[in-house]
Amino acid sequence: MSEIKQNKLKLYDSLSREKRVFEPLKSPHVGLYVCGPTVYGDAHLGHARPGIAFDIVFRYLKHLGYKVRYVRNITDVGHLENDADHGEDKIAKKARLEELEPMEIAQFYTDRYMDSMDALNVQRPSIQPRASGHIIEQMEMVSKILDSGYAYESKGSVYFDVKKYNEKHNYGKLSGRNIEDVRENTRSLDGQDEKRDGVDFAIWKNASPEHIMRWNSPWGSGFPGWHMECSAMSSKYLGNEFDIHGGGMDLKFPHHESEIAQSVAANCCEPAKYWMHNNMVTIDGQKMGKSLNNFITLDEFFSGNHNFLEQAYEPMTIRFFILQAHYRSTVDFSNEALIAASKGYDKLMKAAETLAELKSSDKSDYDVKAWANKCYAAMDDDFNTPILIAHLFDVVKAINSIKVGKMSITADDLELLKAQFNIFVFEILGFKASEKSNNSANMSGSLIDMLLKMRHQAKMNKDWATADDIRNQLTDLGVAIKDTKDGAEWEL
Ligand code: ZN
Repeated sequence: MSEIKQNKLKLYDSLSREKRVFEPLKSPHVGLYVCGPTVYGDAHLGHARPGIAFDIVFRYLKHLGYKVRYVRNITDVGHLENDADHGEDKIAKKARLEELEPMEIAQFYTDRYMDSMDALNVQRPSIQPRASGHIIEQMEMVSKILDSGYAYESKGSVYFDVKKYNEKHNYGKLSGRNIEDVRENTRSLDGQDEKRDGVDFAIWKNASPEHIMRWNSPWGSGFPGWHMECSAMSSKYLGNEFDIHGGGMDLKFPHHESEIAQSVAANCCEPAKYWMHNNMVTIDGQKMGKSLNNFITLDEFFSGNHNFLEQAYEPMTIRFFILQAHYRSTVDFSNEALIAASKGYDKLMKAAETLAELKSSDKSDYDVKAWANKCYAAMDDDFNTPILIAHLFDVVKAINSIKVGKMSITADDLELLKAQFNIFVFEILGFKASEKSNNSANMSGSLIDMLLKMRHQAKMNKDWATADDIRNQLTDLGVAIKDTKDGAEWEL
């Protein structure tokens, strides 16, 4: 641990709507729960954003020394079309269309999702539970809510009694809605004839005869309501009260609002001490949507295989671009912006290489400690990655000036700079040198080895002219050659 490390982290809590000092319930342990994907299609930008935003939270908390248990679920049952209480299960529908078993769909797209997150260098969570593997826990929670009087059974389904809950508690406190607004916006189709009130939501749904994914329960054959899985799995793995609950802003209502109500009804406490929500992505100023022809999967970004895309973009370009915005701001994707991000990222990676080769002298023109403190202050201010990146570019200028001799740095400062630069760039922001440049570095190394072999051969043949020629040309390219007994060693 570095001596300049500090811990004054403040994060914006979406529930109290203010930045609060982060104080875990049981320090140094931190429980982090983030709503994961519903696995019925390829991962797209809408998955990259929360994946990366909470990867930063995970990485930074670990860097500060916390022991983080990060739980991110996989929704493989119960998420009905239009997030409603009525309609087909998203996964079952895809399975029907593709003539596959629903679990085949869930497994296939879970694997694809993990591949995309790996490409983006998103660290895997500590636990990745599936909704379908926690049906018993969800049933138990439904029973508890029935026992507490905040739910009722109707035609084999169980509904949460929002009106009754709202008499004592506040349904709408997270999203800022009141139940009158909710009632007005409720679709008339959402199992209306079974509900006492349009605002009520299903915590257990009776399965119609054609519904494939179903389990026997005290209320008949059915499946859990979508919001139930996160309540059941978060309390199973993190306890009834844990530190941070995260997800996309679009999940505030009804998903997270309902999670709060379910936890209060079943466990007599709100689930999370802090709620964090990432903002959405747009493409050329428009919301992403299949009908708009701007629905681009991550694989399509990586391959460039989509009409909208002028070229392929490396995963690290996408990561860099997303982190150039604060997680609570919107991010607008365009080819122009991505090309600029790609250049910026290359500059940063080049500086990392230059830094490794810098030479120290007896004085410093750059205050490395002050710079590192500013970087920490940015991260401590609600994970402000754009400000951190701005500070990184500030030090990139200094690194380049030191390289050409316009500035100097002492050995101690250089050591600190190298350590902190690597911590911010690779450990906290999670960047990695692109495979393209790794591949080309490997390629150059092999070519140099090959030329030195030819030079050795020339020397054996007493062809001194060729041997000298190869040596001089490599020296001009910046390759330092040292002759040894068995051939030669080189460095750039
Ligand atoms: Zn959730």
